[in-house]
Amino acid sequence: LMAQAESGRLEIDLAPMELDTLLLDVFQQAKILSGGKKTLRIDEIDQVVVMGDRDRLRQVLLNLISNAVKFTDADGKIILRLWIEKDEVRLSVEDNGQGIHPDEVQHIFERFYRVEPARDRRSGGSGLGLAIARSLVEAQSGTIRAESEAGVGTRITFELPTPG
Ligand code: ADP
Repeated sequence: LMAQAESGRLEIDLAPMELDTLLLDVFQQAKILSGGKKTLRIDEIDQVVVMGDRDRLRQVLLNLISNAVKFTDADGKIILRLWIEKDEVRLSVEDNGQGIHPDEVQHIFERFYRVEPARDRRSGGSGLGLAIARSLVEAQSGTIRAESEAGVGTRITFELPTPG
């Protein structure tokens, strides 16, 4: 997928779709995947239609939520929000996990980048999840950004233009 994105061959099927319905769907799926061990909550959910690719957006959401689950402890709390602001649709995934050091947060969307302690984890990952998420969001004319504080938590937000 990453190679396709880099060579501009990433296939995206844009169509008007209800992002709130997708969020609810992924929310249910994520609750099952996390085995009920973490608190997963939706704090805000506006009804929004975007020009998007449902399967690709599902993939982005699952990636962000699974990172939030992976990088929180047993008291992990993951809060999802979907709202419209300044003619843009915003969706955020916030967690109260280990957070990311300020020097590292700017790199997390790079290919193969993993913050040091994460590299030792048996649960390990590829360091590609967020790079792919960024490619998918940008291919839908969106942007994605991270805010994080070590020891406090992380919030990843992506924005998509409204179809209007
Ligand atoms: P992976 O999860 O496979 O390691 P990603 O590209 O999804 O790769 O994430 C890159 C790195 O960013 C992770 O290894 C981790 O260090 C950091 N990271 C991503 N999401 C979070 C999060 N919610 N909390 C803390 N660190 C995170």
